[in-house]
Amino acid sequence: MKLNTYEHLIKSHNSAKKFLLKFCWKNHQRYCPRCSCRKVYSLESGRRRCSKCGYTFHDFSRRFLNFARLSPRQWLRFIKLFELEVDPEMMSSQLNLSYNSIRKTLNISRLSLLAGSLDGPLIIRNFNLVSLLRGESSPAIPSPVLGILPLQDKVYIDFLWDIDLETLLHFKLNFHLQTRHMGRIVYTAPYKKYLSLVAWDDGLMARHKKGKLSDKLPIETDRWFWAYSKPKLERFRTVNPLRFLLYLKELEFRFNHRTLDMFPVLCAHLCEFVPDLE
Ligand SMILES: [Zn+2]
Repeated sequence: MKLNTYEHLIKSHNSAKKFLLKFCWKNHQRYCPRCSCRKVYSLESGRRRCSKCGYTFHDFSRRFLNFARLSPRQWLRFIKLFELEVDPEMMSSQLNLSYNSIRKTLNISRLSLLAGSLDGPLIIRNFNLVSLLRGESSPAIPSPVLGILPLQDKVYIDFLWDIDLETLLHFKLNFHLQTRHMGRIVYTAPYKKYLSLVAWDDGLMARHKKGKLSDKLPIETDRWFWAYSKPKLERFRTVNPLRFLLYLKELEFRFNHRTLDMFPVLCAHLCEFVPDLE
């Protein structure tokens, strides 16, 4: 979205809210976000109540964007900066929000992107990632191993449930699966249908590093996904596996939307209902 269109959207609280509401309700038809019942009452407070389960809600209840205390205009400003990959410190100063709020808002945004990926809902459920939205401490997850699968002009980054870092080390030591490091990120030669496996190394793989390797791995010659991602991965610093997982899924999203207008798609993801609430 070009800035002149964007400026129009954020000119008032109402214009920003109206824009976000378009992603929430098809044809303005409200229904209960908990049980999907269409018979709902309007309350004086502006909220609505479900006739079936009694749930009281407002237009953004149970949606990703409702988990940060940002006004619609603040959300649209944040989404614009997120689209442009502005770093968290700069976001914090531009939006006049604390660094912690920015971190939380980034987590919410990345979770909404994860929820929209093929294996995302399963990952969210199995690791109880919804707790991230409530600002509880990050769930501890094992270091994930992800499979990179470029397909035509898209990429799929799959969470591999049956492979952990130790399995990766076993492949390397006993089956000569070649690996390379980029900081704490380790990536490999092709494995089954995947062009490469990628993981965040907690130190295990680094202890078995071999000397200088000259041959390029196939992924390093990939002109699409790897050429796009490598500079971003080189800049990416993290100390925890969950952030690595969220960031890789964000990369999948960014790559697959690189030729599209990303702004409305980001809004649409943030306006989705959070899966598995309660
Ligand atoms: Zn209901």
